[in-house]
Amino acid sequence: METSKIYKDLLERVGRSEGERGSKVYLRTFGCQMNVRDSQLLKGLLLQEGFSLTDREQDADVVIFNTCAVRKHAEDRVFSILGGIGKRKERIGRPRVIALVGCMAEEWKERAFEKAGYLNIVCGPNDLYRLPLAIRNAFFSPDRRIVLVGSPSREEDFYRKGNWFVEGESAFVIVMEGCNNFCSYCIVPYVRGRERSRPWQEVVSEVKKLVAQGVSKFTLLGQNVNSYQGGVDFPDLLEKVAMVEGVKSLSFATSHPKDATDRLFEVMARYPNIEKYLHLPLQSGSDRILKLMNRGYTFEDYRRKVDSYRQIVSGGKISTDLIVGFPTETEEDFQKTVEAVKSIGFDCAYIFKYSPRPFTKASMMGDDVPLEAKERRHQILLSLQKEISLQKKDKFGGCDFS
Ligand code: SF4
Repeated sequence: METSKIYKDLLERVGRSEGERGSKVYLRTFGCQMNVRDSQLLKGLLLQEGFSLTDREQDADVVIFNTCAVRKHAEDRVFSILGGIGKRKERIGRPRVIALVGCMAEEWKERAFEKAGYLNIVCGPNDLYRLPLAIRNAFFSPDRRIVLVGSPSREEDFYRKGNWFVEGESAFVIVMEGCNNFCSYCIVPYVRGRERSRPWQEVVSEVKKLVAQGVSKFTLLGQNVNSYQGGVDFPDLLEKVAMVEGVKSLSFATSHPKDATDRLFEVMARYPNIEKYLHLPLQSGSDRILKLMNRGYTFEDYRRKVDSYRQIVSGGKISTDLIVGFPTETEEDFQKTVEAVKSIGFDCAYIFKYSPRPFTKASMMGDDVPLEAKERRHQILLSLQKEISLQKKDKFGGCDFS
């Protein structure tokens, strides 16, 4: 790659000789599969822009944390780890740029600099395309605070330039982003924006390109894949990808129960290369809590979906997400979740303690379930699910019950 004047200056500033490939970036990822894929795209983009990558934070000229805003606990952890790196910033004796990117950046915006004065850049998920230039600018003006947030959607170039970066034979392919559902506890619509779908032709051509690079296992990603509208609906998209030669394994995440249809299950059943596995977040077994969560279904609706799925997709497995301690959740509400878990018999469940997130409707309801009750309910569900999974003697990779 031709080294531009600006880049030569940058190399000088970071104490590297010209000709040596780029300043070193340490990129750490928190959160969901979407973030994992965003980090891969970002790595691809950074490499194209002349940076290099390192797994050792202490060797890095640029430290990037790609973050998740869904739970408060995860946010506290990011600030705590970053804080340690920030403290060392002055001591390493050479310029260093620290960037907070992803959903936390979109949530915190300029306020992140008050919380973490060592940060140089705050960059939301829709603005990642602008990050390489921002990093260079930060080296030239170390005292400047750069904020890149608020773009309603991404530059398509972000996918085009980044998507050659793959690791191994598996790849995530983003098919849609954002969410219009506004579940009352969820920050995603505020930090990822409204739903946007990538045209189906683009998705299929990305899959073909990745197959040519040796990838054979694919996961299609979106906050709610069943809302996909990229010229065809999601069952049709899934079918088109399943038919691409060289796709040996295909899965997807995440499905909203109100939008998962029999047509989706029929496509899953029809193609041997589609994994017989559905992640279908229930969140609570209590209809009263589901209504407060604005989930758009009752437990009976959910149960019927699961029955159809199991009928159509023979031997199909199912996992879920559950939240304990949502505002006003009583022991009776919680017992309904316990009964729901027993009666559905999930193969795997991810169980979370509720924490209020900014901007959300639930954050105005008051966090009134005591921590002790949340912890107890969390433990009860964890033990119950462990027992069910052991009885089924069939665990999924990645489900660690934590
Ligand atoms: S469907 Fe609900 S929980 Fe899922 S991303 Fe959208 S708002 Fe959040």
